[in-house]
Amino acid sequence: MNVVASARELLTQAKSAIREAQADEVQPRLDEDGVVWLDVREADEYEQGAIPGALHLPRGHLEFQVEGRIPDKSAPVVVYCAGGVRSAFAAKTMADLGYTDVVSLVGGFNRWKDEGRPWKTPETLTPEQRNRYQRHLLVSEVGEEGQLKLLDSRVLLLGAGGLGSPAALYLAAAGVGTIGIIDMDVVDASNLQRQILHSMDRIGERKVDSAKKTLTALNPDVDVVTYDVRLGADNILDIIDGYDLIVDGTDNFPTRYLVNDASLLKRIPVIHGSIFRFEGQATVFDPYNGPCYRCMIPEPPPAELAPSCAEAGVLGVLPGIIGSIQAVEAIKMLLRIGDPLVGRLLAYDALEESFRTFKVRRDPQCPACGENAAPIVIAEYDDLCMPHALASSGTTPA
Ligand SMILES: [Zn+2]
Repeated sequence: MNVVASARELLTQAKSAIREAQADEVQPRLDEDGVVWLDVREADEYEQGAIPGALHLPRGHLEFQVEGRIPDKSAPVVVYCAGGVRSAFAAKTMADLGYTDVVSLVGGFNRWKDEGRPWKTPETLTPEQRNRYQRHLLVSEVGEEGQLKLLDSRVLLLGAGGLGSPAALYLAAAGVGTIGIIDMDVVDASNLQRQILHSMDRIGERKVDSAKKTLTALNPDVDVVTYDVRLGADNILDIIDGYDLIVDGTDNFPTRYLVNDASLLKRIPVIHGSIFRFEGQATVFDPYNGPCYRCMIPEPPPAELAPSCAEAGVLGVLPGIIGSIQAVEAIKMLLRIGDPLVGRLLAYDALEESFRTFKVRRDPQCPACGENAAPIVIAEYDDLCMPHALASSGTTPA
């Protein structure tokens, strides 16, 4: 008996164990949510052209990486290679790993392309980027796909101060492609105890300009967009428009409520951080998917209990920790990985060296995001920070 199977026999065995599909059958599923198109060719083949939206995982890495990349084993998967051979083996391997709905594309990408079906040249990292982000590429939760996503992301930082400094540095280092920074202050020597974006030779310079110099020197991939203005009701909707995320490093209640209401309106998640003396907090407000700032803090504390940052002391390292946590949460939200701090408040105490998390629930009665909330009106807030009523229109009182 011949126990050594020839390649052809192996292929026949694989094909008999899997389902193959013709392009005509699967092409209508291109735009369907949840269908994974898996390209198992080598990198140089993939870079020449691929089916739009395909996940690239070369055949040689399949066994070890597929469960990280496609965690749902019941997800419909269309696997393809150049001609339909490697994909047949890949489909067999996936079936062995417990995937239940995998088909191998007959004729592969070559026939698909020859038949004039949709394909495109995928975006890929340059050799310099591959080197720079090597340590990201080595974690499957980021990988090349995640890195490209980061490079394509837009994050707006409110403030280039204590929290904004570490957040901006790490987001720039991570390769977040567009970083907006809004701040109207100039660098002062008293900032340097914690605001590590700036330095002695920048004293007197606009903080946004100093931030841009530091971040561009760190990573030329990053486009730093600066806003040397006061964030207010008149400009907030225009400024935040088009950003994927807001990292809030502001230190006063009226601005936080303004940011909250505007971000709900634009449905942009806010990564919140705050610091006081030796204590810091961080959480993520994901509009209508989790609580908002008003759900958590319905009204600001009395002014005497809430000193602004200019008056309150803070350990210089503290914003380094909280701002770094904000950067972590931002990256998780951008890549949709892990368990972001949505509905959870992380509280850090530097003297105890302890972290605690508290549940934060959405308030059904929230005047901003609750079911019966009035339409959001963006306007300057006074010390009470109450939502503004929609101005009655049409009739003038007699
Ligand atoms: Zn709310």
